[in-house]
Amino acid sequence: MKNIKDYNLEQLKQEFISMNEKPYRAEQVFKWLYTTNITSFSEMTNLSLELRQKLEENFTMCTYKIIKKQESADGTKKYLFDILDGNAIETVLMEYKYGKSICVSTQVGCKMGCKFCASTGIKFVRNLTSGEIVEQILAVQRDENVKISNVVFMGIGEPLDNYENVITAIRILNNQKGLNIGARHISISTSGIVPKIYDLANEDLQCTLSISLHATTNEKRSAMMPVNTVYPLEELIKACKDYIEKTNRRISFEYALAKDNNDNLEDAKRLVKLLKGMLCHVNLIPINKIENGVYIKSTNENIIKFRDYLNDNGIIATIRRELGSDIDAACGQLRRKNL
Ligand code: SAH
Repeated sequence: MKNIKDYNLEQLKQEFISMNEKPYRAEQVFKWLYTTNITSFSEMTNLSLELRQKLEENFTMCTYKIIKKQESADGTKKYLFDILDGNAIETVLMEYKYGKSICVSTQVGCKMGCKFCASTGIKFVRNLTSGEIVEQILAVQRDENVKISNVVFMGIGEPLDNYENVITAIRILNNQKGLNIGARHISISTSGIVPKIYDLANEDLQCTLSISLHATTNEKRSAMMPVNTVYPLEELIKACKDYIEKTNRRISFEYALAKDNNDNLEDAKRLVKLLKGMLCHVNLIPINKIENGVYIKSTNENIIKFRDYLNDNGIIATIRRELGSDIDAACGQLRRKNL
């Protein structure tokens, strides 16, 4: 059966037309799906019984079940969802001063193989559909009875390796008749799939692009991130410059500091050189050591030195506050769990 949350509003209208239903009915359904907490078609009381039945026969609503919910001392919550096909995914809810932010997964597993990330080493299973991406937000809103204001595509998976579904999901989140989450409140993070960065620049979306950079030489970056052997630094930076030029949006570069690996003054100098003149911001993340991982966290002193060097040399840099590390919900700690 088809998942009704896989369609953006325009696509849903087309579906309705092909079922001999009026397009405004699709709008009514869209509103129910994204502005209320209902979990069944029978609750859509402004539709005829006949239409509700027809929808029930043709579509699922893909309502996730919570397998496990963990709460951190800092208020961060991690969900393990049963996504109804024998697989499970993790989603994280974070509280900031400006609102509730959610970190969503885009794939069951990941193919990228970054050496410092806990999602590596677990078999890639499949892409999530757009509806399965969006349902993570709806399921958390239902459970906590809150409204999510920010979405980051930084959970398990490589968003640009599931490009079409991620874009459709963003268009659903973005729609003013539904969840109405502004594109500027949505961030996509990528390990650097260069051709898709060019595609994204042409989508006419105002979302934020984050690049997981982590190193300043091809040798170091390839050792940490195999994707760099396919799309090396020069090509990545070129694509980023194109993105900035086309969208006029500031890129956020993620840089996870690992002791004696990428955290010394030489690295900071190269980083300044690499990013000089670009409309960008550097997000420094103290690396989280994973089970059997070779990379360990830089000292606090070094992290501050690194940040100060960047700031003193014209690159805006901040240190990311760590949330949820006590429940394995911090950056790079999410794993695909089996049921
Ligand atoms: N595949 C995407 C999104 C998922 S990872 C990407 O690579 O960007 C989300 C962010 O967490 C990325 O910046 C990633 O590099 C970072 N990350 C992964 N493992 C980490 C770890 N152990 N410590 C700190 N950050 C990590």
